[in-house]
Formats: sequence, structure tokens, C-alpha cells
Amino acid sequence: MTTNATPAVGHLKDAASDLPDPREAALEALRRLGAQLPPAPDGAPSFTPTSPLSGHGLFPLPVTLPEEVGAAVDRAHEAFLTWRLVPAPARGALVRRFGDLLREHKADLATLVTLEAGKITAEALGEVQEMFDICDLAVGLSRQLEGRTMPSERPGHRLMETWHPLGVVGVISAFNFPAAVWSWNTAVALVCGDPVVWKPSETAPLTALGAAALLRRAAAELGAPEHLATVILGGRETGEALVAHPRVALLSATGSERMGAEVAPVVAARMGRTLLELGGNNAAIVTPSADLDLTVRGVVFSAVGTAGQRCTSLRRLIVHTSVVDEVLERLASAYRGLPIGDPREAGTLVGPLVSAAARDRMLAALEQARAEGGTVVTGGEAHALPAAPDAAYVTPALVQMPAQSPIVHTETFAPILYVLGYSDLDEAIAMHNAVPQGLSSSIFTLDQREAERFLGPDGSDCGIANVNIGTSGAEIGGAFGGEKSTGGGRESGSDAWRAYMRRATNTINYSADLPLAQGVDFG
Ligand code: NAD
Repeated sequence: MTTNATPAVGHLKDAASDLPDPREAALEALRRLGAQLPPAPDGAPSFTPTSPLSGHGLFPLPVTLPEEVGAAVDRAHEAFLTWRLVPAPARGALVRRFGDLLREHKADLATLVTLEAGKITAEALGEVQEMFDICDLAVGLSRQLEGRTMPSERPGHRLMETWHPLGVVGVISAFNFPAAVWSWNTAVALVCGDPVVWKPSETAPLTALGAAALLRRAAAELGAPEHLATVILGGRETGEALVAHPRVALLSATGSERMGAEVAPVVAARMGRTLLELGGNNAAIVTPSADLDLTVRGVVFSAVGTAGQRCTSLRRLIVHTSVVDEVLERLASAYRGLPIGDPREAGTLVGPLVSAAARDRMLAALEQARAEGGTVVTGGEAHALPAAPDAAYVTPALVQMPAQSPIVHTETFAPILYVLGYSDLDEAIAMHNAVPQGLSSSIFTLDQREAERFLGPDGSDCGIANVNIGTSGAEIGGAFGGEKSTGGGRESGSDAWRAYMRRATNTINYSADLPLAQGVDFG
């Protein structure tokens, strides 16, 4: 690994001296949110999350043991028995109040998101905005959990579908959206009548404690049952206990493909439901007709936003050979001007990677890309910030690849953009779809035929397909999720709520006869 003091590209800024120490800033935000740090008793298992801003530990926290996970799920189930009987619009009132509190405490929660996930302030505020946006959506939904009525083939009969609360929803979340993913699940689950037990990433437990404190406050104010939202702390083992618990009716898990492959069979074996939101390897196609000014802006945001640590980050750019040189040149120039530094400072666009391990994985991927014939056009270097020598800062990397290769097919959770050339659209779409993942995708084109082809049945195979915008930055109104090894789950808007409810088909006979379906005569 190389650690340079002076960046070859990007504007590396040292932190201003008046920025508070991450521990002090976290304590202040937690206090304002009304959250308590649970004590980590001597001798009991504990863990200490590390702030990517400093590379140093925040606070030791107790691990929730498997038997405590079981008790938490049982308490949530008790809450379910009451909550499912509360009319959905009244359940919506709790989510409305929660949304109000989130608005009031937007900056406090965003502070924790930045301290734990390393997001720049604008993106952390955006994440909290997404939390109350989904609350708005869920409040409206609380009056629209509708079923269909179908014509019955039998006279004097009515055939209809009704939707009912499902049970306890277990949520496992990743470090990079430490609050929004939980609220996509929780706002919708609560109006659907389901309590939530949440195991946040071991990297971002403080954000979870802060967000859950606001929901607890809303529940207490409205007299909602206790234990509608519980946080359990720890890593994989705590998650495993949640996954295996037979009373977790829906397990909504966000994280790596590896994690999804581990949890899916366990839930399937007990006939539970899963909603999986796993890794992406998102690509954009740039055609000869593309508006290159707009393309470069869209590509840079998608590839380097959140330091390349979004599930929807742009990782592959498939560019027509007639424009590839120009696109590379413009991107390289934009990359060289990126302000990199403490994510709390105004003007910073690229913060740190989440950990030294993430930085090492990025550097190893670049080595592999070189070995597979790639050329690093710019970036791809690790840097020490004088004020935070143990934090993992990198310059985003732009890599020209001669052809598809194993590293291009792998999600490396870091700002690496592989640029590949193509000569006709069929080839570009084939390259686009050649990876195991199927989360987000884009085409940059002013040709309507190309755009429609990309969105059509033999176009992009992803859950999200865009035209003339990048791959990241989805709105909560649409269903969010991806296909293939991304897991097939859908969260957020549209009809994603159906995953949180059980459907019953009802046939009501209001006649005095008993005709059988399909005309069966049973004497
Ligand atoms: P990760 O898989 O390491 O961890 C995610 C969560 O799963 C953590 O809470 C972790 O403790 C838990 N976990 C890990 N193994 C487990 C197991 N066997 N049983 C139960 N729980 C387990 O992922 P990460 O590094 O935190 O996040 C980055 C990954 O998440 C990337 O692959 C990214 O693409 C993906 N992600 C996907 C989406 C999406 O919506 N598709 C959103 C955000 C992140």
C-alpha cells in the first residue's frame, strides 16, 4: 500500500482546527436526540465502532446476546398482537409524528451519519430527508392499503382480497445507509401493523440509537405500544439470532451478496419471508448522441458520491468508441479537481472510506485491474490527512479497461470507475448485463430508440433503469431494489408495502344456496 502525503490528483484539504472531536460531536448529537448510550458491563461482550473521520474508536457498546435477541423478538410479537388491531390510519398518526421529529432533528441525525459512515454533510442531510419523505409516503399509504374485489363465478357470492398485518419485521442494515434503510422499512411496516426489530451495522450503532430514540418518543407521546421498534446491537452473531428466530415473519436484510447468501437459506428453511437488498455493480452506457456535459456531471456524482460507497454507485462506464477519448479526458479533469477531506467541511465532495480495510480492498482491486490489462488514468492513491492520520482517504480512481474481466464483474465498495469501449448497442447491453448483480443502470443518449431499447425487455436487466441521469440517488416514491444476486427485494414506495402484509382471499356467500366452484356437483 502506498500512503502519500501530497495527492497526485484531487484537492486534499486538512481539517479545520475548529471541527469537534468525533466523540464529543457524537455525544452532543445523542443528547439532543434524547438517546442513551447503553453501558457495556465489564466482562460482557462488547464492541467499539470506529469513526471513519478519525480512524479511532467511538464508544464501547454491549453486544446483544442471542438469548436477548429472542426476548426482544418475543416482546415485539406481544406488541404486534395489540398493534395489528389499531386501524391503519391511526397507525399512520404515529409515523406522522415520527416524521415531524425527524424534521426537527435533521441536523442531529445527519451529524451521526457523518461521524459513523463518513458521508459529507449534504449527503447525510439528504439521508435524513429520505427518512421523513418515507414517513410522508407511509402516512398516505395508511389510508390506501387496499385489496381488490373480483367477480365471483357463483351467483350470490363476493370474491375479494384483504391485506392484514404480517408480524415482526427483522431489519438488518448496512453501514452506508445507517438510518434511511431502517426508515424505509419501519415507516411502511408500522402502518402495515408490524413492529420492527433492527440490527444496525456494527459500524453505525449510534445513528441507530439516535433514530430509534425519536421513534420511541413519538410512540410514548401517542400512547402506542412499547416495543414497536427495538434496536439490537452487535455484528454477525446478533444478526444470525434474528435471522433464525421463528417469530420474525419478514427478514429485510441490506448488505453484501455474501451476507444475503448466508441469511436467505436460513429464513427459507423456516418458511419465513425475506426482502433482500444486496450488492450492485452498476453501469451506465454512453452513446454517440449523449449530451456529454450532462453525462460527465451525472457520472461524477454517481461514481464518487459517498466516496463510491453507495449500493447504487456507478462502477462501470460503457462508452461508444467514437466518444470514449473525450469522455475519459473530461472525467479525468473533473476527478483532478475533486475536493477531498473532512466530510464536515463546507466544499468537501469526497470524504473518507469507511475503514482501512475498505481502503486496502480498493488498492488490491486496482492491482488486479492492472494485472488484467487495465490502466489507471487518474486517482487510486491512499492519503493521510495530517489532522486524521489514521483515517482512510483515497483519490477516486478512473480505470480504462480493455475488456470485461473478473475484477470488472466484482463489486469493490470504493470509488473505482472502470471505463470500457463498445461499438454497437447490442454489444453494450450484453456487456452491461454480463455481471452477477442487477441493481441500478443508466443510459446517456438523446436517441429515443436507444433509450427505449435500454428500458425494454431485452435492455437493462436491473431493478432500476434510468435515462440521462446517473445510477444513484433514487427517490422514495418508486420501488427500490434489484435483480439477480442483488436479491430481488423491493422497498420504499409503489406497492413495496405488500411485502409487509399477508394477503387473504375471501369468498362470501350471501345467497341461500351452496353452489360449488367449477360447477362441481357434490350430491
Ligand atoms: P455487510 O454484508 O458486511 O453487512 C451488512 C449487515 O449484515 C451488517 O449489519 C452485518 O452485521 C450483517 N451481517 C453480516 N453477515 C451476517 C450474517 N451471516 N447473518 C446476519 N447478519 C449478518 O455489508 P456492509 O459492508 O455493511 O455494506 C456494504 C454492502 O451493502 C455492499 O455490498 C452494498 O452494495 C450493500 N448495500 C446494498 C443496498 C441495496 O439496497 N441493495 C443498500 C446499501 C448497501
